[in-house]
Parts: sequence; C-alpha cells; structure tokens
Amino acid sequence: MTSALEIRNLHVNVEGKPILKGVSLLVKQGEVHALMGPNGTGKSTLAYTLMGHPLYTVTAGKIIFKGVDLLELEPDERARLGLFLAFQYPVAIPGVSVANFLRTALNARRRAVNPSDKGIPIPEFRKLLKSKMDMLKVPNDFAGRYLNEGFSGGEKKRAEILQMATLEPEIAILDETDSGLDIDALRIVAEGIEALTGPNMGALIITHYQRLLNYIKPDIVHIMLDGRIVETGGPDLALHLEEKGYDWVREKYEEVTNG
Ligand code: ADP
Ligand code: MG
Repeated sequence: MTSALEIRNLHVNVEGKPILKGVSLLVKQGEVHALMGPNGTGKSTLAYTLMGHPLYTVTAGKIIFKGVDLLELEPDERARLGLFLAFQYPVAIPGVSVANFLRTALNARRRAVNPSDKGIPIPEFRKLLKSKMDMLKVPNDFAGRYLNEGFSGGEKKRAEILQMATLEPEIAILDETDSGLDIDALRIVAEGIEALTGPNMGALIITHYQRLLNYIKPDIVHIMLDGRIVETGGPDLALHLEEKGYDWVREKYEEVTNG
C-alpha cells in the first residue's frame, strides 16, 4: 500500500495571527512536490506545523499521514511513523558522532514498527551506513565526526540527507527557503533527493528559488500566496516562475479575490 500525507483545509495561527488560511495538499509516496512562493507567505509555517512546533497553532483542518491523525502525535512520533523533516537550523549535539546519532534514530524508527525490535546489530548497521554513504558519495571519515560540530552549511545538509537515506522515510519534507545554501550544498541536497526519491519515498520540497529545481525535477509544483495554495501545475510551472517571477500570480490572485 502506498503511504500518503494529506493536508486538508489547514488553518494555522502564529501568536494569534492567521498565517495559513486553508491549505490542502496530497503528497503520495513516489511523488516529488515542490512548494514555491514569495517570502512571508507561510511556506515555513507549513513545515513547522508538520513538524509539530509548539508555536504553530492549528485552528482548523486536518493532517493525515498513513491514515493516522498527525496532529495527535508528538514530533518524535511523527518521525518514527515515517515522516522526515529536514530542519532548517540543525543543532550541534556535543560528543555524538554522526554514526551513533543515525543508529539511535534508526533503532527508534524500527521499534515504532515493531516494539520487540532489539535494534540493528552493529555490523549490519555499519554495512547499511556504508552503502548509504557510497550512494550519496559521502567521504568515509564523515560518520565518525561529531554531529554538526564545526560543520559547514554543506556538511550539515550532507548529514541531513544521510539521515534521510538511513531512516528511509515514506515522505520527506525539506524546507530550503531561508537557509542560504551555497551552490555546493545545493548540489548535495539535490543529488541526495534525486537518489532517494523513487517508488518508496515521496517528497515535499519547499523552496523560494527555482534554482533547486534545476537539479530536481518535481512531478507537481504548487505556488503559495498569502497562506493559500493558489496554483498547482507540472514542472513547467516552476520554469514559468523563473522567467516571470511571482508578480503574475499576485495579479491573477488579486483579480480573483476582488471579483
Ligand atoms: P515563508 O517561509 O513563506 O517565507 P513563513 O512561514 O516563514 O513564510 O512566514 C509567514 C508569516 O508568518 C510571516 O508574516 C511571518 O512573519 C510570520 N511568522 C512565521 N513564524 C513566526 C514566528 N515564529 N513568530 C512570529 N511570526 C511568525
Ligand atoms: Mg521559509
């Protein structure tokens, strides 16, 4: 059975102010969606809400993941169920190596699937990690480094993508908008997503910029404006945005709302 993330008529307030005003979206395993839009329109708000950040209050609507009401789950439970959220500002964890962090995260996910799981045996984990690192062309010494300590922007992204590869989520949400990725980091993210998306993983890639989509071909592109998705189309929609910017979307939307 394919898994899906379904967002239905989602309304979200931040500090009492309505930010999302009725967002509906269906992302299925195996599909790559891009969510684009001008700054300040609520894209990151959607990502934080999916993550379960306490500052973001759902006032109406539903989020269903694999048939489960996501809003009833704690952030870590959401992750263990197979929803992956790449954090915009990853934190350093002193004294925890990338490999140990990944093994702990993987074991938590395995236990969510099967409560009697004893954890992945270390030799098996080493093999798995090695294969994921080879697939993503991650240098060998990376696994032994302390997570995010002294990492460059590109290395943080690499750790994130490696985490995604190891956990094998059914749906991944990536918010790249404000992270100021340099071209190197951008390529790491893009190639990682390209390598990982397929029949077993779906992705919602949140980005202000068309440039990420030079590396990843989305199946479906959505444009968000003022807390709503106002356009949905194929990859050509992203190309159109690169050429024309967002002004035409605003004009079209204002025409509609002003009658
Ligand atoms: P985008 O990611 O599309 O640039 P955001 O979701 O970050 O947009 O922001 C949408 C709106 O919500 C903005 O007006 C922003 O000021 C407001 N907002 C988002 N997060 C917070 C917050 N933590 N505190 C106050 N306002 C916020
Ligand atoms: Mg943002």
